Amino acid sequence: METILFLTHTEADGSLSKAAREALAAAISLSRDLPGASLTVGLLSADDAVDDAQAAADSIAGCGAARFLAVTGGDFATPRYATDAAAAEALTQAAGATLVVAPGTSRWARCLAGVAQRLHGRADTHATAVAVEAGAPAVTRWYYRQRIEGVFERAQRPWFILLEPGSGEPWQGAPAHAALEHLPVAVDERLRRTAFSGWRAPRTDRQTIRPEADLLLVAGAGWTKRQADGQTHPADAERLILGFLQLAQASLGGSKSLVDLSGEGQAVLPFMTHLNQVGQTGSTPRHPKGLATCCHGEEPHVVGWRFINERRAINLDPNCGWARGKADVLYVADAFAVMEHLNRLLTMKQAGKGQNEAA
Ligand SMILES: Cc1cc2nc3c(=O)[nH]c(=O)nc-3n(C[C@H](O)[C@H](O)[C@H](O)COP(=O)(O)OP(=O)(O)OC[C@H]3O[C@@H](n4cnc5c(N)ncnc54)[C@H](O)[C@@H]3O)c2cc1C
Repeated sequence: METILFLTHTEADGSLSKAAREALAAAISLSRDLPGASLTVGLLSADDAVDDAQAAADSIAGCGAARFLAVTGGDFATPRYATDAAAAEALTQAAGATLVVAPGTSRWARCLAGVAQRLHGRADTHATAVAVEAGAPAVTRWYYRQRIEGVFERAQRPWFILLEPGSGEPWQGAPAHAALEHLPVAVDERLRRTAFSGWRAPRTDRQTIRPEADLLLVAGAGWTKRQADGQTHPADAERLILGFLQLAQASLGGSKSLVDLSGEGQAVLPFMTHLNQVGQTGSTPRHPKGLATCCHGEEPHVVGWRFINERRAINLDPNCGWARGKADVLYVADAFAVMEHLNRLLTMKQAGKGQNEAA
């Protein structure tokens, strides 16, 4: 019989993230499908007064968990390996957990493998699904840069499973009162050796990576190439790309060629960094739709599109990689002209919406 712990941390505002609710939904379905299994919620929260943890627990009180445990306090306000690991260890032990399902946040990814080691368990990251197969829990994850999908089981317990954000539907339910058990965790100077010095984030108007966006716009090196007039047009490229991101609230990806150009200090698209790169040596973001512009659609690039549901591309070349079955729709057209027109349409749409709201 499995004892399942849904393990999560609250966000800076005390709420639970979408990724946390997705992991909760997976933990609930495991507990339903495994005969005799029970579900416990384990929360890590900043607030000494337990209010944040209580509010978070209340927000998921209807999830069917038998127990709600929390480790709270200023020492847990910000991510730090030593304190996060101590809290996760205490929560796992207090729950008597055999299966631990957690969202695959950077905070948990940093420490849960270490916690599994301490508890003589195992940890698997980047899981995209957990399900019950032939009476046993089974995890799905991708290998070889998202080219091969594997499903596996483990005998070792406790088994820590970090679920990739965006892999499933978030749990939704009405809030209620949860009977929260507060778990003391002793934090001494040894655990405080690493100090959190602050966040460094791009200005919000420079923020180009938006994991929750409906659309991923991917820019390729074509934006920096000589165009029909024999000139390059980096200023136009920047205006069109940033304008589109702003209007569509889209997330921005880049091909390796383009981000490498930016990284080498060439005056191309200064807002494009290696963090934007999608593909074999880049990221595999999850968005319902993707639009590739001025990018060739070569295989190492396209593996980054594994989890994009609907793919479209704009390329001057009718024989580009996208034309070979990698895009659902290929527009054989000049991306400068298409994006200019698209931005005009989006501006008109937004102006119309504004007028309607004012009226
Ligand atoms: C081991 C390995 C790993 C790699 N990993 C990655 C990875 O993670 N991510 C990645 O992206 N790449 C990766 N690559 C590189 C990849 O194979 C491609 O070389 C790269 O993605 C090509 O980038 P690009 O399409 O932006 O540029 P290009 O190949 O230069 O293509 C530019 C395109 O722009 C088009 N174009 C030009 N002007 C216009 C216009 N006005 N309108 C419309 N279209 C226009 C051209 O027709 C052309 O198709 C990897 C390669 C290797 C060997």
